[in-house]
Parts: sequence; C-alpha cells; structure tokens
Amino acid sequence: MMKCKRFGDTVAVRLNRGEDIVSSIQTLSKKEGIKLATVSAIGAVDNVTFGLYDIEKREYKENRISKPLEIVSFCGNTTLKDGEPFLHLHASFADSDGNVFGGHLNEARVSATCEIFIKLIYGSIDRKSDDETGLYIFDI
Ligand code: ZN
Repeated sequence: MMKCKRFGDTVAVRLNRGEDIVSSIQTLSKKEGIKLATVSAIGAVDNVTFGLYDIEKREYKENRISKPLEIVSFCGNTTLKDGEPFLHLHASFADSDGNVFGGHLNEARVSATCEIFIKLIYGSIDRKSDDETGLYIFDI
C-alpha cells in the first residue's frame, strides 16, 4: 500500500512491490487535489510499458519489457485535463548489463521499492487538444 508524507510543498511517496507507479501517482493526485506539480522518482521495477510518439501516425509505438530494471531517471509533471489529473511521465531504465532505454511512460510495476517526490506548484495548467500534433498540450 502506497505511503506518503507531506513536507510543505513536497510530497514524499513510497511504493511497495507490485504497485504501479503511474496509476499510484494518478490516484494520489486525484485524492490530494494536486493540480500542478513536478514528479521525480527512483527505484526498481520489473514490468514496464513505454513508448515513442509517432507524429505521422499520431499514436504511441509501445514497448513492454518484463525483467528486473533500475529506474535511472524518472521525471514528469501533473496538470489537469477536463478537471482530472493528467500525468505526463518519462523514464529511463537500466537492465543487469547496464543497458539503458526508456521513453514516454505508461506503466511501471515496482519490484522492490519506489521513492517519489512530488513538488507542488501553486497554480494550475489545463491541457488542450492540438491539431498539429494530435497531443494534449499545455494550455498556457
Ligand atoms: Zn511524453
């Protein structure tokens, strides 16, 4: 079960084995009413789904990897889309040989632990549909 503790503008989160990082941050953002924040994390995972956005096809080319991995870097933001928390997360992972890969993150299952810091920003940013890219971009 996710554990979190707030220190001023920062929320520290610990995820345990088996928990999904993306859906956990989504759940927490909704529960805590987080409108705008940056997210960073480290930890270990064993099942990840990430991709690259194909601007021509307007879809993500998805990769799924199921093996022990360290999170080398994990960053992103949470904004709002239609009043709900909207996460945009990118991550890179290293395997046991030190090979690193990553991309736009969709799912990441924790294998050991995951340590997350969410830095709250006072304000809010909505997302709007962008015809040129097919993405939901910052509405600023
Ligand atoms: Zn992305």
